[in-house]
Amino acid sequence: MPQNIPEFKFSDEALKLRQCVYEHWCTHGHAPNLRAAHEATGLSREQILEAYKQLDLGIMCIVDQDTQNFNLLKAPPFSSYPSQAQVFVDGKLHCYAGCAMESLAMCMMPPFQGKELRIEGYCACCLAPVTVVTKDGETLSYKPPSTRIHVSLSPRDWNKTNIVSMCDAMNFVVDGDHAAAYEKKIVRRGVLFTLEQARKFITGTGKARMWQYERIPDYMRPQRIIDGIRALGVDVSGWGE
Ligand SMILES: [Zn+2]
Repeated sequence: MPQNIPEFKFSDEALKLRQCVYEHWCTHGHAPNLRAAHEATGLSREQILEAYKQLDLGIMCIVDQDTQNFNLLKAPPFSSYPSQAQVFVDGKLHCYAGCAMESLAMCMMPPFQGKELRIEGYCACCLAPVTVVTKDGETLSYKPPSTRIHVSLSPRDWNKTNIVSMCDAMNFVVDGDHAAAYEKKIVRRGVLFTLEQARKFITGTGKARMWQYERIPDYMRPQRIIDGIRALGVDVSGWGE
C-alpha cells in the first residue's frame, strides 16, 4: 500500500527516465515505449524497468507491473488512455490529461511556456461540454462559468494500490446540481472544487514538475492532503471529514 511510505531518493537512472518521459510526452503527445526510452537515455531494459518501479513508488507514474513491457498508464499530468480531459495545443489535439484536476497543471511545464493549452472536457453526469483555457499556470477562462471539479474519492483512499482510481474520481461537472446527479449515478459522495481552488491545489506540484530535475518523490499523506484542501476553502464534509 503505497501510502505513508518512508522517504527515499530516486536513483540517477530514475531521474533520467522521468526527464525522458516528460520530454517525449510534451513533444509527441504520448509516452515513450521501452525502445524510445532506451534510445533517449542509453539505459538498458533492466535499468529502465528498475527505474519505473522507483518512479511508480514515488507517484511519478503508473506502470502495469504485471506486464513484460511495463505498460505506462499515466505520468501525471499525462494519461496514456483517453481521459475526461483532452488537451489542445496550437489548435490541435495534443494528448489526454491524467484527469480534470491535472489538466490545469499541464500549462505549467517548461515546454509549454507561452502557449495556450485548451482543455476540452465534459460534465461527468450528462457529457455536456466543458472548455477551459490555460496558459503559464493561469486559468484564463472556462465555460460554463459554473464549472466545478468533483472529487468522489477521499484522500484516505488515494493511491492505496495506484493512482488510477484517484484520477478517475476527479471529474468536471457543469454545476452543483449536476454533481448531485452524478453522485447518485455512482452511488458515492464527493466534494466540489471551484476551478480557482483546483488550480491552487495543483500549483505546487505543477510548478516543480520538470522544472526541478532532481525533484524528490511524492508521498501520499492523507491527513496532510485533507488539511491542505480544507485550507483552500473546500467543503470536505462530503468525504466525511
Ligand atoms: Zn451533467
